[in-house]
Amino acid sequence: MSTILFDKIVFGPVKSRRLGVSLGMNLLPPDGKFCSFDCIYCECGLNDERKTTTRLPTREEAKKQLEETLLAMQAEGTVPDVITFAGNGEPTMHPQFAGIIDDTVELRNNYFPKAKIAVLSNATMIKRKSVFDALLKVDDRILKLDSVLDSRIQQLNAPYSPSFTYEWLVENLKIFEGNLTIQTMFLNGEHKGESVSNMTEEEISGWINALKEIKPRQVMIYTVERETPVKELKKATKEELDAIADRARKEGFDVSVSY
Ligand code: SF4
Repeated sequence: MSTILFDKIVFGPVKSRRLGVSLGMNLLPPDGKFCSFDCIYCECGLNDERKTTTRLPTREEAKKQLEETLLAMQAEGTVPDVITFAGNGEPTMHPQFAGIIDDTVELRNNYFPKAKIAVLSNATMIKRKSVFDALLKVDDRILKLDSVLDSRIQQLNAPYSPSFTYEWLVENLKIFEGNLTIQTMFLNGEHKGESVSNMTEEEISGWINALKEIKPRQVMIYTVERETPVKELKKATKEELDAIADRARKEGFDVSVSY
């Protein structure tokens, strides 16, 4: 397995398929993964294979590294489009997530006021008030919805909490009142002898109905880009992604596609 881990708190800037020139923030351990999902396509690897005993970075460490990086970027004239929280797992699981967001907003305003702040999240922590409130302080909350079928969510995302269901997810995403981006990974292939395609007619029509309920201001669809820990997964084709995007656009959604 040659999936990747980020070995620092601040990484990049990198040119992101979805976000432009992105400076990454990894609030998770540098030598392992920490996530409330265990997605079979995760670029960081499967949880069992990426166990860590390293502590999470502190709020102070995150602020110091981010400020040092922004100062260096300013000195060399590199301007980030976005500061993106992602990394080796689920950023909102960090117990000081809300404070770190406050620090990041302050530093962004001081050094690169035009840069956006984005959080890529699996949405498992959005019921926690401090997380919800912090997510409302950033420019882009990019929240995951990979399937409308609980069986597929179990297969693709393997959430740790038994109370994480499709119904729970949609009800809680609706609380953002449309002020969010939905991200969906579409893929083909198989796992343990069963199809993993979340592009059946049942799934796509259900997904469009879910969008109509959630009313996101933007939708990002994408597919496998790098090596996945489960080898039998396959990229969705450009034609498949374009067809899904077209259907969502016909319903009035603003959809971006990363191939
Ligand atoms: S939610 Fe993200 S970090 Fe967590 S397992 Fe899935 S892809 Fe990996």
